[in-house]
Amino acid sequence: MLIIMSEIINWEVNEYPGELNKDQWMELKMAKKAELGDPILNGMALSELYRWAFEFLDQKSRILDDIPFCGIKRFFDVLCHRLDDPNLVGSYDELSKAVAWLEKADFECKIVIAGNHEITLDEPYYNNIKASYPPSLIESSPKCLSLLTSSPSITYLSHTSATIKLTSPTGPLTTFTVFGSPSSPKRGPDIIDFSAFTYPPSEDPATPTLWDAIPANIDIVVTHTPPRHHLDTVPNNGNPVPFGCESLRRALWRVRPRLAVCGHVHFGRGAEYVSWGHEEGEELSTEKWIDPAPEGKKNSLVDLVKGLGSEQRGRGREGTCVVNAAIMTESYFQRKGHRKMSKPIVVDLELPVWT
Ligand SMILES: [Zn+2]
Repeated sequence: MLIIMSEIINWEVNEYPGELNKDQWMELKMAKKAELGDPILNGMALSELYRWAFEFLDQKSRILDDIPFCGIKRFFDVLCHRLDDPNLVGSYDELSKAVAWLEKADFECKIVIAGNHEITLDEPYYNNIKASYPPSLIESSPKCLSLLTSSPSITYLSHTSATIKLTSPTGPLTTFTVFGSPSSPKRGPDIIDFSAFTYPPSEDPATPTLWDAIPANIDIVVTHTPPRHHLDTVPNNGNPVPFGCESLRRALWRVRPRLAVCGHVHFGRGAEYVSWGHEEGEELSTEKWIDPAPEGKKNSLVDLVKGLGSEQRGRGREGTCVVNAAIMTESYFQRKGHRKMSKPIVVDLELPVWT
């Protein structure tokens, strides 16, 4: 079984602003503007794109002044994607390539969720932002979505659940329930938010949340965001900052799935087994996973049958293995050149056989 969580498309960015101050940021912008204003680069689509991008920067610079630095970095990321490629981020062409690749992959079941970068798959969000795009670059959300929803070999989950029955005579013949969601919490009060599928985070356990929608009988939960305090931190000069969602953590306590797979926070890649207590949201212990073969180049194994969590596991649903399966090792914004990738994580777990 292959689970794909967002970052469906291979993002390529030319410029990473890094920790620039405002003057350096402006200098970079002006240098880029001069470089791209070179008539050699002219071509209808490109010049339209450049004009749009820099008009946007000029008109909205006051708004950009008011947003947190991470918002500016995100803006740069989005802008540079578009400057690199006249196709839109999440364009139909890009998604077609990704879906074709997925369809060829030899897995009996392929569960796919989107994430905050799949902007065209979040129709209400995309409808809102596309007004500022040049008309030639506007995509059709329903057309993009149908690539995933109409694929015979892909199970696309968008805050929905499914019962999977593996029927191949050469496969494990198991059955399980899975809930998948592209949502992730908004990262602060950005005026301009370049992320799809976001929601305002809430720490208050009494407030209803979108995670109340996870059915109680779910075996596997796949979310773009990690739960709070589990594989969700970004290093920050020795003071790691958690980016996970507290409401999701509490929902996992309630549902107690066998496995909770997430991504989004690239630095959090890894796995741990959480033993849940009786009090609401209570955790008794967390057992960290260690890659049993770090020198191996193909993948990393999380063995839930004999390894991680097997000591604590007895009867019923008393614990959840949380896996942050992020493939990228770092943030989008902090490096140039080739990105380092983590190995895919393979999870070995026992599921009921249906025959
Ligand atoms: Zn993400």
